[in-house]
Amino acid sequence: MIERDVVIIGAGPAGLACATRLKEIGVNDVLLVEREKKLGGILNQCIHDGFGLHKFKESLTGPEYIDKYLEKLINYKVDILSDTMVVNLFPDKSMILSGPWGREKIKAKVIVLAMGCRERTAGAIWLAGTRPAGIYTAGVAQRLMNIDNYMIGNEVVILGSGDVGLIMARRLTLEGARVLMVLEKLPYSSGLPRNIVQCLEDYNIPLYLKTTVTKVHGKARVEGVTYVKLDDEGKIIPNSEKFVKCDTLLLSVGLIPENELSREAGIPIHPVTGGPIVDDTYQTNIEGVFAAGNVLHVHDLADWASMEGELVAEFAKRYLEGSLPRSKNWIDVKAGEGIRYVLPHKISGKLDVNFLFRVSYPSRNRYIVIRDGNNRVIKRKRIINLHPAVMENIEVKAEELKSAEKLEVMIE
Ligand SMILES: Cc1cc2nc3c(=O)[nH]c(=O)nc-3n(C[C@H](O)[C@H](O)[C@H](O)COP(=O)(O)OP(=O)(O)OC[C@H]3O[C@@H](n4cnc5c(N)ncnc54)[C@H](O)[C@@H]3O)c2cc1C
Repeated sequence: MIERDVVIIGAGPAGLACATRLKEIGVNDVLLVEREKKLGGILNQCIHDGFGLHKFKESLTGPEYIDKYLEKLINYKVDILSDTMVVNLFPDKSMILSGPWGREKIKAKVIVLAMGCRERTAGAIWLAGTRPAGIYTAGVAQRLMNIDNYMIGNEVVILGSGDVGLIMARRLTLEGARVLMVLEKLPYSSGLPRNIVQCLEDYNIPLYLKTTVTKVHGKARVEGVTYVKLDDEGKIIPNSEKFVKCDTLLLSVGLIPENELSREAGIPIHPVTGGPIVDDTYQTNIEGVFAAGNVLHVHDLADWASMEGELVAEFAKRYLEGSLPRSKNWIDVKAGEGIRYVLPHKISGKLDVNFLFRVSYPSRNRYIVIRDGNNRVIKRKRIINLHPAVMENIEVKAEELKSAEKLEVMIE
């Protein structure tokens, strides 16, 4: 069996950033495994700009952003196995790879999970009606249009206001389709506010909140959908049904971190994020197995996924050197009032921590407060605009955590 120091599973922004950072800080034995032929993950199909504003201080398209890392990969001579999938992962940090050359079992001292996420489908949301041609998830439509050069439809209804759907509303319009409406079941959009402006308002595409699709019509091809209004509790308002004629229904109804391998290895998955439960070094319950990027929680910007990959590289190096102590007394971190989730889920109290969190509903002019088990305020930060689509953060120094036994992050 081949043995390696570090194996990174997935070569999207998180995996690429982790691989290049490991080389920069002197870890030589790094193997990057990617199931696609091309490295770069989802960003290969994101030909719009806006990537890299934080990481590179310039607005890049997805492929331009990835190119920055590919240049480094070549310079650093990172070992790469593309067109190769990790098909099994075991708790002893061994795994089975499957590629055009066959299958191989390898074992690593460190594994970085960077497998990204995938989209929820019509089946996942129990969409009623027929299943004709013309129903796409937004990411599949993005791939068909931006990589394979197919036009997917002419009259489009978009269900869900996630960022990928919003971006595709603009893309379809620019390619000559009519995007009739975007329907969202929540009372607010689940996409970034900047995408609502740049992808809908700039093109006069209406967004109907508290609205959903109840039925798809058509046999060979979509012929229309029935949509309804929802009340404050999300229940259908009687007699609110309307029919809209369209030939395409695009679904942008959420992303799911790809954790089949993590589960197989016995790594507990957080019920809200869908990603592994990690400590303040981004380590899972298996020592030496780290997670970064969308496999851990769905990020709002690829830049943050890359930065997480780099942070994990630093921890992985210390783990290899034996200088990353494993805590025995964890401080649990709980998401309190108004917070949907907070990461890391448990901390040692010995390291500075940048807590990442998402709120449950939009609000303005609020304080994010971290309290310890005795209700003592550890940290308070004012945020003007809070929106569930936007990932927020709050930094805490190790010395501020001295007497904490548990922590709760909340909105006040
Ligand atoms: C359909 C879709 C469209 C998106 N569009 C946008 C957008 O327009 N703008 C934006 O800012 N963000 C977009 N995102 C979010 C974007 O995915 C993230 O910002 C960023 O790509 C996350 O980086 P990552 O490295 O964590 O994951 P990814 O980019 O998803 O990379 C994960 C990689 O892991 C590989 N992999 C998975 N499992 C295995 C395995 N078992 N073996 C080997 N390799 C494996 C995958 O092939 C993939 O290349 C989109 C996400 C999706 C799902």
